[in-house]
Amino acid sequence: MFDELRELYQEVILDHGRNPRNFRHPEDATCAAHGNNPMCGDTLTVYLALDDDGVIRDAALEGKGCAISVASASMMTEILKGRTADEAKRLFDSFHGMCTEDDFDMAAAEDADPDALERLGVLAGVREFPVRVKCATLAWHTMSAAMAGETEVTTE
Ligand code: ZN
Repeated sequence: MFDELRELYQEVILDHGRNPRNFRHPEDATCAAHGNNPMCGDTLTVYLALDDDGVIRDAALEGKGCAISVASASMMTEILKGRTADEAKRLFDSFHGMCTEDDFDMAAAEDADPDALERLGVLAGVREFPVRVKCATLAWHTMSAAMAGETEVTTE
């Protein structure tokens, strides 16, 4: 990766990490889960408000963690709004692949949503640091648990 691009990616992560979007507890949340990543000390609560059609109308977070876990959660809440639960799960699969597979094929995952995957691509650098993968995916595991009716999830 070019150095300028790497720097840009770091800026995006730091910005979201310092000023997470949708950092609040929505009154109308229909499900929520608490995610814990003891390896790093990240603890996040993810709130989702789904409507009767299974569309995510609101997504928000609270908690604390390292810049990567908070940035990933912040970006996730922005990206999930307006998507169905199925779309959210497909995005998580693609994002997880992006963070763990060296030869992840973005083109093959394109039906998942190329724009969203491109945005999440700023976090894919964690692939080089396996411990940070848990930071980057914590919010997504937590979102997935919330939709499955679970209230606690841990990366251990
Ligand atoms: Zn972390």
